[in-house]
This record gives sequence, C-alpha cells and structure tokens, in this order.
Amino acid sequence: MWWKILLAVLAVFVLVTLIRAAFFKPKKIEKVNIRDAKIDTDKVAEHLSDAIKFKTISKVRDEGVDWEEFEKFHKYLDETYPLVAKNTTKEIIDKASLLYLWKGKNPDLEPMAMLAHQDVVPVSEGTEKDWKHEAFSGYNDGEFIWGRGALDMKNHLICVMEAVESLMAEGFQPDRDVYLCFGHNEETVSTVYSGAGTIVKTLKERGVRLDSVLDEGSALIDLNLPGIINTRLAAVGTAEKGYVDMKITLHDKGGHTSAAPKHSGMWKLANAVRDLETHQFRSHWLPFLDELIHAVGGRATYLGKILICNYPIFKPLLTFILKIIPQGASMVRTITSVSMCEGSPAANVLPQRPSITVNFRPLPGDSLADVEKHVRKVIRYKDIDIEYFNGKEATPFSSTSSRAFKAIESVENSIHPEGVAVAPYLVMGGTDAYRYGEICDNILRFAPFNVPLSLFFTTHATNERIPISSLKEAVVFFREYIIKVSDKD
Ligand SMILES: [Zn+2]
Repeated sequence: MWWKILLAVLAVFVLVTLIRAAFFKPKKIEKVNIRDAKIDTDKVAEHLSDAIKFKTISKVRDEGVDWEEFEKFHKYLDETYPLVAKNTTKEIIDKASLLYLWKGKNPDLEPMAMLAHQDVVPVSEGTEKDWKHEAFSGYNDGEFIWGRGALDMKNHLICVMEAVESLMAEGFQPDRDVYLCFGHNEETVSTVYSGAGTIVKTLKERGVRLDSVLDEGSALIDLNLPGIINTRLAAVGTAEKGYVDMKITLHDKGGHTSAAPKHSGMWKLANAVRDLETHQFRSHWLPFLDELIHAVGGRATYLGKILICNYPIFKPLLTFILKIIPQGASMVRTITSVSMCEGSPAANVLPQRPSITVNFRPLPGDSLADVEKHVRKVIRYKDIDIEYFNGKEATPFSSTSSRAFKAIESVENSIHPEGVAVAPYLVMGGTDAYRYGEICDNILRFAPFNVPLSLFFTTHATNERIPISSLKEAVVFFREYIIKVSDKD
C-alpha cells in the first residue's frame, strides 16, 4: 500500500515539475531602439593601443609614481576626444584622478556617473620576456590588442570616451548631468588613500547625490551546457564583499629553547589555525542567488528548466555543493584565509607572542564586528589580542529595479535580440565604486565586453589582451546606457 502512495506523490511531483518548467519564462524586458552609430572599430582599437602605451602604473605610496605618464595620458585624452574636452569641465583631483562634468538639460535631476580607473598594475619582475608582445606596446595583431590595461581597464575607459564623443558629435545632450570619474590608483587601493575617495569627497562637499554609478567588476559570460542552457549572461555586480586583514596574537611563556616544555607557543598557534579552519562562518543563501538562478533558468532549454525550476527545495544541497568549491563558497559565506604566521625572532627563543594574520572576506550581512566575535568564539584561547588592518565592510546590495539596472537589461537585450540573462552578482574583489556608497544607492559593476573566460585570466598576468571584436559592442552599450539612464523619464 505504502508504495502506491509513494508512487502517487512522485507522479504529482513530476507533473507539477513539468508544468512549472513550462511556465518558467525569462523576465519580460523592454527593448530600446539601438541608434545607428558610426563607430569605426579600427579607430577605437587604435585609441586603445595608444592608451596602453602610457605607463600609468600606480604605487602604494606616491613615491615612485611616474606622474608624467599620467599627464601625457590626460593630454592624449584631450587631443583624441576634442568634443569631450570642449563640452565638459575637467578637474584633476588628488594629483591625477579625472573628474569630467557633462552638463545635462535639467539641473534638478540627480546626475549619473561612469567610472573607470586609469592606472594599471606593473609587470611582475622577471616575466617581461614571457609576453608575446611587449606589455606596454599596445600591439595590434589584427585580432587582439595586447598589453597591460587591455582588460583592466583602459578598454573600459576608452570605450566610455568613444561613446561620449560620438554622442556629442550627434548633438545629443543628456537630461541629467553625466560625470566621468577616472581614478588613478584603484590597483593600489588602501583605505586612507584613494583618488576615487577624493572624487567622492569633492562631490559630497558640493552636495552632489548620484542617481547611479557604473564601474568595472563583472562581465559578459557565455554559458553553455549542451542540452541544458546556451545563453549569454550579463553578471552585474550589485554588491562587493568586505575585506579585513586581522593579526591575532597569542600569549605564551617564552624562554630558552634548551629547556622547552612539551608544547611551545607554536602549538597554541597551530591550534588557533585549526580552530579557525574547522569552524568556518555560517553560510547564507542571499537573495541575489535567487535572482541569478531565475534570470539564467528562464533562458534554459525545457530540460534545463525541469532541472532548475524546483531549486528552492534543493537549496540546502546547492549550498552544500557551493561550499565544496572555493569560488562557490565565497558566494555563500565569509571566507577565512590564514595567510601569515610569526613565531619568535630567533631559533633558540621560545615564542612569547606567536601570531597569525588572517585575511577575511566578509559576506554582506557579516560585519567586521561579527568577524571579530566569531574569531573570539572559535579560538579556544581567550587571552588573545586582535588588530585590524585594511578593514572595509561589505556593501549592501543595490536594487535590481533601479533605472540603471533596467537600462543594462534593456540595452543588452536590444543589442542581442536572441536574449541575454541579466542578473545581479556579488563581486569578490574591490573596485573604486566601493567609495561611492556615500553619495549613491545604485552602484553597478559591469563591463560590457564579450571576452572568452580564458582571457580573463590574463588580467594582472602575462599576455593581457582583448579581442578587437568586443570593442564596438562595448561602445554601443555605453552610448545606449548613457542615453537611457540620463533620460528624465
Ligand atoms: Zn580594475
């Protein structure tokens, strides 16, 4: 008898699943008419090549920065984009950050901001020869533009400038003010010193509150699982994880190693590491994951939809799977990474103050205070000292119903009529956009460049390069995004 009931329950479940899958549709997205723009891809590629040649390398401290390279780059931008130079006011903030203001028709509307950073990371010493084409050559082989900054992020900066210049050439004037904010030291970001931070301070002092901010931080990805899904995913970073380096110091007796006890202070240190690694932070299924699954699931095949549509039932299993994969784990919990340790200053001295330094990446919802509380709870020794370095809280999530997010949805889906899944995403690293939380609620991180995943790994590494074919689409995206977001309606 019981098996008949089981069979009936199973049959109902299957039937409900089949019906649910049939109704699992992508979100209805309003399309825009893409303006016919005369974009000369060769020219854009040439400008990116030129931009890469300026060695705008940032350093943790000002010493050692070649400011002349930044000055030359600024001059190059003025000459290459004469309409931008003519129709905006430009300020140099904090030595080399750029703040352009393109006045809109209606001063009552909140301005929008387009961000990019001018600086790049250096080439690691000893790897210069590994580059197929010299790192600051901007070499164009007909398929790729090579060099430091090709992906991070002179590509973005140049394409924003191309978009604005071409809109100006057509006589377009935005309704709201448009700020172009190009920081100069994103790559060496510290909590106290940042060009982007000074731009934000400047705008705040002037009483500016922004409608939205668009920066780097996420990308266009081709998702292809044969038979299940084949779609383009525009992952838009709507929040950033936090960051903190924490030095945890333990206390021990110390003394001469010739009369060492069975366990030295290093034993305590090892136990503390063990405690931290065995007691990970609790995982949380944040709502952005539901939106991500819905956006992607809506574009799956019927088989894909059957597999995806009941995912809420399997959330505990999905969370478990995510936790096993390091990249997945960072989406659902605060990451603990013990990266440094220190014993005593000499081989014949027992450690009195052994210490570990742990890098935490707090999930939105876990504050730095929560991190400290967790550390004090899980480490078995209560007599510990805690010091923070470079601490910054995770950001809240920006809404996916803002004008700016909807603009990304409609522009992406208009450029690609076959459909793009546009979904919120949690950014693991740091961006200049982080600073703008003080003057803006809608902070989005998205780079509209269609770049194969394998090339993303060249960012900050050897042979960084970008396909020339991705440039035109990015310029079109930025043009339409500016038109849509700057519109008063
Ligand atoms: Zn970057």
